[in-house]
Amino acid sequence: MSQCCCNQSPEAKPACASSADPLAWFGQMLNNCLQYARAAKQSGKRVVGILCEYTPRELIMAAGGVPVCLCGGSAKTIPAAEERLPANLCPLIKSTFGYHALKNNPFLEMADLIVGETTCDGKKKMYELLAESRPVYVLELPQKADDPDAFAHWLAELKKFKAFLEDRFQTTVTDCQLRQAIGVMNRERTLRRGLAALMKADRPPLTGRQLLTLKSSISGICEDLAQYEKVIALYRDQSNDSGAGQECPASCQSVRVLLTGVPTVTGAERVLEIIESGGGRIVVMENCTGLKPILEDVDAAAPDPLLALAEKYFHLPCSVMTPNRRRLDSLRQLIGEYRPQCVIELVWQACLTYDVESHRVRRLVEDELGLPYLRIETDYSPSDSARIAVRVEALFETVRSRQKNKPLAV
Ligand code: SF4
Ligand code: SF4
Repeated sequence: MSQCCCNQSPEAKPACASSADPLAWFGQMLNNCLQYARAAKQSGKRVVGILCEYTPRELIMAAGGVPVCLCGGSAKTIPAAEERLPANLCPLIKSTFGYHALKNNPFLEMADLIVGETTCDGKKKMYELLAESRPVYVLELPQKADDPDAFAHWLAELKKFKAFLEDRFQTTVTDCQLRQAIGVMNRERTLRRGLAALMKADRPPLTGRQLLTLKSSISGICEDLAQYEKVIALYRDQSNDSGAGQECPASCQSVRVLLTGVPTVTGAERVLEIIESGGGRIVVMENCTGLKPILEDVDAAAPDPLLALAEKYFHLPCSVMTPNRRRLDSLRQLIGEYRPQCVIELVWQACLTYDVESHRVRRLVEDELGLPYLRIETDYSPSDSARIAVRVEALFETVRSRQKNKPLAV
């Protein structure tokens, strides 16, 4: 009789060699992921492309799949996409579709399945075009998150998805396998939260850009998890160091920034770089490439792991939800913990949900929390970089002059 995988601790850490310097290791992230995906495929696993943080990676992993993020961050693939998609569409959608049109994303080319979800309209309709020549499964995401029947519908969607994966991959997803996958993902989320927490320090040991680099397109790779542990150990002491009596380094002279809004996927980091080269330090990213999807874990001890999974993912505060109060609550909390001096909201051109919601974020930041706020709307083209740099500089001037005029504490 085969041993039930539940006999292993879900939080068990596999021993994993970790040799390279973490920043160098993640500097090769795409190559590392490619090697990993090729080896997994050779060993009989299925590569499953995902396009949104609502897609529960754990279910795919429990079905013997390797979930790979396919979101495009390159401006170069956009002209090919615009042959079929409207030019006035979010660059993230166009870039992703451009890779499909050009067939030059190796992960997409090796994908046995692509999983989408009904979030924004542009993505939904793009999936229809993808599905003309690739295997696509779309999860229906109810968007009134506070309605009790909305959650029941989401749970039913995950049950349907589980049955679909079992049928397609000719396997059975047991509760034990699901718990194992939940254990791996909870560990990854815990480590990535630990990394992010380094930035709470008065002297953050990393730049926001470096922190963004410390993130893999494939979850649960053993070496990645070992590298996350290594960075935390490496920088924890530095960030605990009060630095009393020492000259203030660049990290504590910089303006502390919270970045919110749309995801900044691999290749689309231009605005982050402008902010940090203009004297800012992004101490916290609230978006989907930052803390938003990892703030909550799945209850690994819950009697029904699928129900626990559905709960965690349904709590994700994306602007496609209406209303989306959880995002404002999360922003309030992160601002309290990370002490940014201003908030910058990034909106990809034609992203209507984040664009409209930016009004509520501005009100929260300026009126309730009394911090300067800047909304940047742009796409993947560098043509407006100089204009963005000027606006960021003006924001930092406001922060510095407020700082100067602050009454001294008695
Ligand atoms: S911002 Fe919304 S639609 Fe985009 S990845 Fe995150 S949850 Fe999905
Ligand atoms: S950034 Fe906005 S428009 Fe673009 S894919 Fe995400 S939710 Fe959709």
